Amino acid sequence: MEGQKQVLERLRGAFRSGVTLPVHFRLTQLEAMMSLFEDNETQILEALHEDLAKPKFETVLSEIDIVVNDICYNISNLQTWMQPSYVGTNLATKLDDCFVRREPLGVVLIIGAWNYPIQLILSPLIGAIAAGNCAILKPSEISKATEKLLAELIPKYLSQECYAVVCGGAEETKTLLENRFDHIFYTGSQSVARCVLQAAAVHLTPVTLELGGKCPCLIYGRLDMKAAAKRLVWAKFFNSGQSCVAPDYVLCTDEVKDMLLPFMKEALESFYGSEPQESPDYGRIVTDRHWDRLIELMKRSEGKIVIGGESVKETRYIAPTVIVDVKGTDALMQEEIFGPILPILTIKSLDEGINFINEKEKALALYAFSDESQVVTTVLERTSSGGFCSNDGIVHMTLPGLPFGGVGASGMGNCHGRWGFETFSHKRGCMLRGWGLERVNVLRYPPYTESNLSW
Ligand code: NAD
Repeated sequence: MEGQKQVLERLRGAFRSGVTLPVHFRLTQLEAMMSLFEDNETQILEALHEDLAKPKFETVLSEIDIVVNDICYNISNLQTWMQPSYVGTNLATKLDDCFVRREPLGVVLIIGAWNYPIQLILSPLIGAIAAGNCAILKPSEISKATEKLLAELIPKYLSQECYAVVCGGAEETKTLLENRFDHIFYTGSQSVARCVLQAAAVHLTPVTLELGGKCPCLIYGRLDMKAAAKRLVWAKFFNSGQSCVAPDYVLCTDEVKDMLLPFMKEALESFYGSEPQESPDYGRIVTDRHWDRLIELMKRSEGKIVIGGESVKETRYIAPTVIVDVKGTDALMQEEIFGPILPILTIKSLDEGINFINEKEKALALYAFSDESQVVTTVLERTSSGGFCSNDGIVHMTLPGLPFGGVGASGMGNCHGRWGFETFSHKRGCMLRGWGLERVNVLRYPPYTESNLSW
């Protein structure tokens, strides 16, 4: 079997041949990606059901439609994005052509995580293809069925010369990272991101990091509690809380909490019935290790469970759980929860909520729920996060026009739409000069005199 080095050599050879440069090639590959989805929807649904018991609707929305929409968006805009952008000139460069050219970087490495195992590999791949790169894809080994499916489908649909899937876990990824890439696009945890950065430093490889963290949901002032509860609960328990942009915790006043909780109970019951375990619309925790971690977090929490709390180890089930009376020092507040447990922390004022958020690492997403636009604007202006959405959760990342990515500890760089294309493009500043205006150049040649300063 071909080893990692040979795969890399093959892709490097293809990149050097210039095969990825024409727009026609890039569009053909993007169209082939569309066919991959059209022909294999059932297999994708089955793989994600096997890995995460992902409900069909959640897979269609978050693994298929989001990627397919981005492919369409890229296909419609690619020719425009590839055009050089001309910049203004000055007196000394008046006759020159001065422009920025978007050029592919070369062979890039895309490493994905398990929670949206299709999207997290194929979304960045869209940008890599659109920008004219070759790519090695390293799906997560934890979502095994999807890893296997990607390894089977990618060579079937995309150019084998230019794109390859490498399977394996930490050891294989570490070996892969010993090689020189022209860009590394990593999605996953902050701790592994440090290893990726260290490996990239050896070759001075630029890196995009799509990480996680604790995404706050600040609920304040007047609002439609019933709608707020539905949107909050949907965003939190989608994929059983295993979303990098899931609201990790809620900050609200005691008064809001008391009004919100009955509606949250009602919303959960209307979504998943009185026995969420029986609902086909509620997923499972990806591995025993993650299930153990979440149960341990619940046990160590000093808060009070007011909704859910039930669990079944054999099926890796954890009920949608809401915990109140949680303090900033609670176990639940020391790490990203990444599961179906929602702590509610109470604040006395908007300022207290904003200060609480600002004392923590910058989140990947920040949510502000309020009917009062002044509240939303204040939260937006006084905080920083990868993305921001008012009065809803998760949905901001479905729009290919918006950049998706973190800031500070939640990551660096972005993808989706043009942002992905830009991530995988080198912006080459070009000046095409002729031989005109040589008389003006006299002003910059030595021997220097006072008159040189007028250049
Ligand atoms: P994971 O365990 O699947 O790891 C991610 C990738 O890193 C995998 O491909 C894995 O093989 C590889 N890996 C694991 N250990 C490694 C090592 N020591 N050296 C090199 N590579 C290694 O996923 P995870 O890390 O558990 O992902 C969950 C995290 O990802 C959460 O923090 C979540 O918020 C974040 N996330 C972020 C985004 C985003 O777009 N920003 C999306 C999804 C998940």
